[in-house]
Amino acid sequence: MPEHNVQLSDQVVVLGTMHGKEQVIAPILTQELGVEVIVPTDFNTDQWGTFTREMDRWADQRTTARVKAKQAMEILHRLVGIASEGSFGPHPTFPWLAVNRELVVLVDVKLGLEVVGEVVTTKTNYRQTQVSHITEALEFARQVGFPRHGLVVMASETIPTHPLIFKGILTEVQLKTAIEQVLAHYPHSRVQLETDMRAMMNPTRMEAIAQATHELVRKLRQTCPLCNYPGFERVEQQSGLNCSQCNQPTPLIRLDRYQCQHCGHRHNHLFPQGKLADPMYCSYCNP
Ligand SMILES: [Zn+2]
Ligand SMILES: [Zn+2]
Repeated sequence: MPEHNVQLSDQVVVLGTMHGKEQVIAPILTQELGVEVIVPTDFNTDQWGTFTREMDRWADQRTTARVKAKQAMEILHRLVGIASEGSFGPHPTFPWLAVNRELVVLVDVKLGLEVVGEVVTTKTNYRQTQVSHITEALEFARQVGFPRHGLVVMASETIPTHPLIFKGILTEVQLKTAIEQVLAHYPHSRVQLETDMRAMMNPTRMEAIAQATHELVRKLRQTCPLCNYPGFERVEQQSGLNCSQCNQPTPLIRLDRYQCQHCGHRHNHLFPQGKLADPMYCSYCNP
């Protein structure tokens, strides 16, 4: 039996999405927290930014997710809301790899609680290219998991304002038609071709959102030992765990610090990865 040990202010959680994220978020929250998830109809999230850049995101990822969750709650006059926000880009250390950072933010206005589930993964098909022929487009499509994943076609020279943009392409016929239409307008241009990163067009992204939701549930279940408030989160990590051979500090974690959002209680968890570090992580014993 799942534990329903997280006490939120409402048994109904409002999800701010227009991209079908309830498919993955709702079953997890229902199973793990025993809540019902509802979605406002005609909820337009494009005003806060689109992956296709007609609308830039106006704030950081966490703020954007929080604002979407709050707006969804207000529409349906509820106390608890949730929303997710994804970002894509090159990996900071391995720039030839693409990275998806996915946040799921839960807000409980009555409790004054905000908890974030986060996943950073290189498991994404995020890619862009320029093509001048359907053959090139089909080759790209094959590499990015089409037609299980959707594509976007647009006129490359006119980003971001030109209305000639085709999203949610899921068949070869749609792909061909979109490319022909762009080339009809701009016969000497190349066509911008991208993976569609909206959740309902991208099952790989849906998996990342599911993982971030599980992470959110895990954090919610960590309660404050003093006041029992949910979301007793790790706020700081200190490295410097001593080497088991020479006793010098290593980059491994020595201490995790947790803090309650409600009463401010702090807890230092010493040696979360063991009391001493394996000499293989020691720059003195294993340079
Ligand atoms: Zn050592
Ligand atoms: Zn507390």
